[in-house]
Amino acid sequence: MNRESMRMDQAFDLMHEAVRRIAAEVAAPQAADVDAKARFPSETVAALRDAGLLSAGVPRELGGAGCNLQQQAHLCATLAQACGSSAMVLAMHYIQLACIARHALESKFFRGWLRDLVAGQYLLASMTSEVGTFGETRTSVCAVERKDGQFLLNKDATTGSYCAYADAILVTCRSGPDAPGADQVLVMVKREDCTLRQTTSWDTLGMRGTCSPGFRLESSGPQSQIVPGAFADSSAQTMVPYSHVLWSSLWWGIAADAVAKAANFVRGQARQNPGTTPPTAARLAEVSKQLQDMKQLWLSAARDFDALGAEAGGQEQLLSMGWALRLNNLKISCSEAAPQIVHRALQIVGILGYKNDSPFSLGRQYRDSLSASLMISNDRIAAKSASMLLVFKDAP
Ligand SMILES: Cc1cc2nc3c(=O)[nH]c(=O)nc-3n(C[C@H](O)[C@H](O)[C@H](O)COP(=O)(O)OP(=O)(O)OC[C@H]3O[C@@H](n4cnc5c(N)ncnc54)[C@H](O)[C@@H]3O)c2cc1C
Repeated sequence: MNRESMRMDQAFDLMHEAVRRIAAEVAAPQAADVDAKARFPSETVAALRDAGLLSAGVPRELGGAGCNLQQQAHLCATLAQACGSSAMVLAMHYIQLACIARHALESKFFRGWLRDLVAGQYLLASMTSEVGTFGETRTSVCAVERKDGQFLLNKDATTGSYCAYADAILVTCRSGPDAPGADQVLVMVKREDCTLRQTTSWDTLGMRGTCSPGFRLESSGPQSQIVPGAFADSSAQTMVPYSHVLWSSLWWGIAADAVAKAANFVRGQARQNPGTTPPTAARLAEVSKQLQDMKQLWLSAARDFDALGAEAGGQEQLLSMGWALRLNNLKISCSEAAPQIVHRALQIVGILGYKNDSPFSLGRQYRDSLSASLMISNDRIAAKSASMLLVFKDAP
């Protein structure tokens, strides 16, 4: 290992330590209140800002930490063990940031904006879902209009996580009024240049702190805020891999939190009858295997994704069916595994896990994990995989 990569590893270790501290001292104590009131985890996001963690994915040449996907996944997984909503906010911010950091560096405006983000620790949200597109992210109804160097963009979004608290929003839209639905671009809308009118509520089973109601967005700004290139490419090369890896890592964190509670419970039972192994210990062993299997899925995908960055033509490979299928499988597997693991942890803990006011309570983790299969519906993803498999013949 050369000196530069050792220095980067040490810098990452410090960041990871900062997230562990924020998870334990800020996110965990606030998690129940965030969940009960369906309120934004403002204390946790403020602590992440203070620790400079919102610029983890900004390239080092622009003053950021230059963390790769594996590292960002570890940060999300750690925070999720304390508060799933906070981790989802961090993951969604990292996903949007990656779209800019990996696709807009040729733009003078975006290079400057990323530098400003490092200094100001801006929070970035997204608006992909839209009334009329039925959960299909790769098509838009709304279109960006361009005139005299300015853009105009209005959108009716069905779901906009923490948009009301973000400094900027990345919005998908058609590239122009005459463009077909799939000819999309990403536009960065600054909070001060838009109005947001909340159109629906966010009183959900779980992930309540993401504060994700529908919004009517009306915005304008300079055309330099349109991310260069087609969203088709930034979606396949960045938004989809980052989303599926970072979501999987945080769903794993939620599951790991549940298993840790179950393990504490089993150890407590063992202490009550020294010299005996409680029957729940065997179930703990089974669920810890499933948790480990789940971790390997997102970790190996993140490793392979990061390795592509060093390979000639690596980014083109991300446009291949092989990668699309792998990422689809990752999302479906991890979104199914997370609630299963929490369910098994609940069977181990029993009634103390079912109670909302017990230290072993698993209600929030269970409800949060149920969002995973809906967040871009697994059926929708499976249908896309099914059509690719009609022509793709390699072993997955
Ligand atoms: C916690 C959370 C945060 C979110 N944050 C954001 C955000 O910040 N920005 C944003 O833009 N979006 C966000 N979303 C929205 C999300 O990404 C999806 O767009 C949305 O959840 C899909 O809505 P839907 O279930 O109504 O749509 P659909 O995908 O249309 O699903 C509706 C039903 O149709 C079924 N279905 C769909 N396609 C098929 C098919 N091909 N075959 C069989 N059945 C099918 C599904 O199984 C489901 O039963 C968030 C969602 C969650 C849960």
